[in-house]
Amino acid sequence: MFGLIGHLTSLAQAQSVARNLGYDEFAEHDLEFWCVAPPQMVDEVAVTSTTTGKTVYGQYVESCFLPEMLAQKRFKAATRKIINAMAFAQKRGINITALGGFSSIIFENFNLDKIKHIRNVTLELERFTTGNTHTAYVLGRQVQQGADQCGIDLKRSTVAVIGATGDIGSGVCRWLTEHTPVQELVLVARDQERLQNLRSELGGGLIQTIDQALSIADIVVWVASMGQGLDLTHENGPDRVLHIDGGYPKNMAKAPRREGVYVLDGGIVEHSLDIEWKLMNIINHVANPARQIYACFAESILLEFEQLYTNFSWGRNQITVEKIDEIGRLSVKHGFKPLLFKAADGIAL
Ligand code: NDP
Repeated sequence: MFGLIGHLTSLAQAQSVARNLGYDEFAEHDLEFWCVAPPQMVDEVAVTSTTTGKTVYGQYVESCFLPEMLAQKRFKAATRKIINAMAFAQKRGINITALGGFSSIIFENFNLDKIKHIRNVTLELERFTTGNTHTAYVLGRQVQQGADQCGIDLKRSTVAVIGATGDIGSGVCRWLTEHTPVQELVLVARDQERLQNLRSELGGGLIQTIDQALSIADIVVWVASMGQGLDLTHENGPDRVLHIDGGYPKNMAKAPRREGVYVLDGGIVEHSLDIEWKLMNIINHVANPARQIYACFAESILLEFEQLYTNFSWGRNQITVEKIDEIGRLSVKHGFKPLLFKAADGIAL
């Protein structure tokens, strides 16, 4: 069995989802309540491989973490949410569980690998994966295929990665450098030393601020760990721009609304067959909840299909091009495709 540890993007959204799921006691309370709420198993998931025909089963564990806990410096509550959800998943006998969204970021930032015991559970970390290798693969493919759909010539384009020094961002940069030469790769993050190190590792790249990057980039990959998205209504980039927003919550709270700006949901895959689960319908994050799922969650599904019970993605900035290619092959094999534009999006396909 595979598992998904998820969280919602804000207190308001959490209250509304709780109401829809029939957890009225959760819906009426403020952040204080969510800080002490225990993890919940809120959905069961079934996915069938298009190649092998095998169906695998999983469980969605809601950690009850909310980004407001970090904004309000409720760090103890935030870390407890993640570690308790991991212990909960392990106790349920789940073989491989993805740490979705901020779960892996909190795990890394607060060195939660030092916590070995949670009450009567000794954490077996090999049962967990961040899912970030698959997310990096999907974003890399979205750059390649999305550019094609929007009529952007990658070889002559400037591609900016916002959050380049992060786990996913650095993986995307490595993969693009190896597989997709672009005219200029722009690296954006706040910590200058980490940016310089990444630039040396890649053998190139232009270090810029977000504003500078937006004024020149033809393609912008958003993978910054921002608790709240930016309002980019007044962005002033090239005439034709493709934004691929892989942030969770989204990095772009408000996208530019001018002609020539295309916005793609980043880090999302679409399965060729319906996925059996109710939650995506209720969360309402994706256009086609029956088929679409976050790439990090899909990584645990792929590992379950292959019975690879190992933390495929682990530790920060360890994602290699080889591992991205490997998970990419499994993704294709079992029927996942990176989300792309549809005819209904108004693009001449
Ligand atoms: P990391 O914490 O490893 O990296 C975050 C990156 O963002 C770092 O480069 C950081 O550098 C940068 N950053 C943070 N804040 C800012 C800012 N205000 N301006 C510019 N850069 C910033 O995170 P991950 O790589 O694990 O995750 C990145 C994003 O992807 C998150 O939003 C996460 O929730 C989402 N995600 C999406 C998934 C999917 O399936 N679609 C799966 C997993 C995660 P610095 O601190 O130096 O600025």
